[in-house]
Amino acid sequence: MPAITAPRGTRDILPAESWKWSYIVSTASRTMRDFGFSEIHLPVFEYTELFSRGVGETTDIVEKEMYTFTDRGGRSITLRPEATAGVMRAANENNLCAQGAGAKLWSWGPMFRYERPQKGRYRQFYQIDAEYLGVAGPMADAEVIALSIELFRRLGLRNLEVIINSVGCEKCRPVYRQKLVDYFTARKDELCETCIDRLSRNPLRILDCKNESCRNAADGAPDIFGSLCDECREHFAQVRNGLERLNFTYSISKRLVRGLDYYTKTAYEILSGDLGAQNAVAGGGRYDNLSRAIGGGKIPGVGFACGLDRVALVMEEQGCSFGEVPGVSVYCVAMDDESRGAVQALTHNLRMSGISAECDTAGRGFKAQMRAAGNCRFACIIGADERVNGTVSVKNLADGSQVSVKAGEAVSYLEGKL
Ligand code: AMP
Repeated sequence: MPAITAPRGTRDILPAESWKWSYIVSTASRTMRDFGFSEIHLPVFEYTELFSRGVGETTDIVEKEMYTFTDRGGRSITLRPEATAGVMRAANENNLCAQGAGAKLWSWGPMFRYERPQKGRYRQFYQIDAEYLGVAGPMADAEVIALSIELFRRLGLRNLEVIINSVGCEKCRPVYRQKLVDYFTARKDELCETCIDRLSRNPLRILDCKNESCRNAADGAPDIFGSLCDECREHFAQVRNGLERLNFTYSISKRLVRGLDYYTKTAYEILSGDLGAQNAVAGGGRYDNLSRAIGGGKIPGVGFACGLDRVALVMEEQGCSFGEVPGVSVYCVAMDDESRGAVQALTHNLRMSGISAECDTAGRGFKAQMRAAGNCRFACIIGADERVNGTVSVKNLADGSQVSVKAGEAVSYLEGKL
């Protein structure tokens, strides 16, 4: 029988990699805290309607990429393809924005999209997600963009590009949409099949099609800035002012529309020069209509999602530090079988004092135990002599020096050394 493998597009994050992920998540956690964001955890599955109404019926995510199934109770359930709609649902359901002060929320965890797997693109991938709800003004946008840039600065990422755009609002986007339909209808024969379909369903997405012929056709397309209403224009100017006040470098990308319908006004992405085709490490923007689209109150919001898998890839490629390599400090070694019990007891005492310690439980001989101690800072050795004298031989594995300490003082001796 062939062995069962992980499903296509998924992978195991093994110990050799998982400690690096912990470093990224703990750096994110500190950064979020410094920006006043609180952590939340939400279900990884939701009612399908949340995404079809929130993300949008005509988006790639909803049309092609969702893992949707009917549960045993006959309800349509979807594994979350993104976090924002769930956060907004939770904010409505739990009245998180009731005080009018806004809610700053962050989370991290797996997302699921049925996409074609390739480097940096998986079917189960992980996002670190921050959402600032309840505040409509442009300072909130600048704050969220600043938060994502600061996170990457702390992680040591280089060679990043911040691109921003405005996608308008329900007042001005229809005007722009019509201009695009008129423009692309006249160039229909230059468009790929998907974009011909997008023409009637979601024409803004033609602007970020990767197909060369579509890109060429889009070169002369009308500019959204010619259609923005006064409010959106002013909002965009203020976001730019905010970024400039904070001395951030960014560029305006008029083709940045993002794949989700809920965006209004600000859209932005952070791109890495070291990722190949899947070069976005984070993306986000404002979504003032999302709450109402999912049946909630009038809650504006702005946020971003950062791809944890991709950030880890870029950090690896750029040789960034992931902090201290995790390891055990002390290895307790039994010279003979009679000492194994004392060794296990010492190991446990060290652990109870918060010193990471390990010992052999597989009955390996002295030499094999010393080899296993190789990456530790100290070895605590117990044999016949130590048992008779009530001592432990503590060997400093960095310089090879060895001292004899009383068994009852071994823990405090090591506490002083580590
Ligand atoms: P999106 O929700 O599509 O804007 O994605 C936000 C971020 O999540 C992107 O910038 C990527 O870093 C990451 N991401 C999105 N889709 C995938 C995927 N299939 N595999 C890995 N990372 C992804």
